[in-house]
Amino acid sequence: MRWLLPAVRVDAAHPATTAWLRRRFGAATLVLSPHFDDAAYSVAGVMRALAQAGTAVRMLTLFGRSAYAPNRPELDVDGVVALRLAEDAAAARLIHPQLATAWRDIPDVALRRGLAVEAVVSKAPLDAESQTLTDTLAREIESSLGKDETVVAPLGMGWHIDHRIAAGIGARLARGGRTVHFYEDLPYAGFTRSSRLWLAQAWRLRVVGLPLRAADIVVPDLAGLKQQVFGCYASQASDAFWRGISQQIRRRAGAERLWIGRLPVQG
Ligand SMILES: [Zn+2]
Repeated sequence: MRWLLPAVRVDAAHPATTAWLRRRFGAATLVLSPHFDDAAYSVAGVMRALAQAGTAVRMLTLFGRSAYAPNRPELDVDGVVALRLAEDAAAARLIHPQLATAWRDIPDVALRRGLAVEAVVSKAPLDAESQTLTDTLAREIESSLGKDETVVAPLGMGWHIDHRIAAGIGARLARGGRTVHFYEDLPYAGFTRSSRLWLAQAWRLRVVGLPLRAADIVVPDLAGLKQQVFGCYASQASDAFWRGISQQIRRRAGAERLWIGRLPVQG
């Protein structure tokens, strides 16, 4: 099976990598972020490398309406949204001045259902409401994409329901013929034991049902970049989150891992 092949490793600082990225991402790429912070935590380095390679990158946050700002408990929902929007804009500027951002004012699962923070994670099959949301958003996003625009979606690691919906959107777009690559959700992937990480990813890729191959994209001073990006999201930051992110940088030896879909990968 192709998803069992060893990971390809490319260095974003190597001149040949520009062509490698352009072949797989094309002229334009949309990066799906379940919440403000997820895409930046997970693929800040890849987004910077793509922008430097001349690909137009857009980061789209799906569930922008949220009451979640554990470090700013005095804020109401509007205050949280405004703050998280500003944090995300600062992170985007830091990643690359040409990185474009957009967001949807859709309530996160905690607001949609009035759930406690602990209840936003579920391993149960997605219910009808979540599946409808997945289908609707996949259709809307597909119709907004350029003809050859590539999509980068989360794997849904960590079982947060909103992340699983975003992963499902990626899977639907891929099944419809769109080129979709998947990223490891951080900090959650960093909390997964090494021995289970591979299994968790393989399971999801089988759910996607498409040939995918792991590619580790080495980014210059990834730890430094991520630390700066992490600092932008002060309303969310915790020592545990940083441990998860930095753990994964060490595991991937200074790279971000993407699961590359659809196109033949020569290495
Ligand atoms: Zn999230």
